Amino acid sequence: MSTSKGSRTTFEDMLVKTGLLNGSSEKVWSEVKCFIVSIRTAGTMWYLSCPKCKKKVVEESNSTCQHCNANYDNGKYRFIMSAEFADTTTSIWATIYDELAEKILDGRTADELQKMELEEIKDVCNTIKGKELIGLFMSRDETYEGNTRIKHSLSKLLPFEAVRETETLLKEIYDYLNI
Ligand SMILES: [Zn+2]
Repeated sequence: MSTSKGSRTTFEDMLVKTGLLNGSSEKVWSEVKCFIVSIRTAGTMWYLSCPKCKKKVVEESNSTCQHCNANYDNGKYRFIMSAEFADTTTSIWATIYDELAEKILDGRTADELQKMELEEIKDVCNTIKGKELIGLFMSRDETYEGNTRIKHSLSKLLPFEAVRETETLLKEIYDYLNI
């Protein structure tokens, strides 16, 4: 089994590999053809970022960034979404950050969504259920307050290319036939 970046795999294999991390700082990269099952709309979907340093700001009355002291009145909301992805083997939850989340939501920005009512946000998220994609996922162990757990995030959307899809399919057939 190849562990090189960009080799096509399944979520099942990805979970087997990430299960072997054992708290190390190694990263597992997996390219998986999958679809979106759902997007979590309960809880945080975005954060307000400082226009100067881009870091997350904690909203306070004086609108001053805690990191660089800039005024964040013109701050931008950035996505930090949690989504469930599935392929033919199993499903996983992964984090999707700003630009990729915008692409997945057909160009809608976090600034737009944070002005919407929850029902409207749910409608937007429902429209992309079942959306097919080829994603490059990055998985690693994260330790928080003494507990280690695997975190997956989507790091890239890869284009569907007819030739490449055919090659991948042929490779799967050859592997299956053992030739
Ligand atoms: Zn700042």
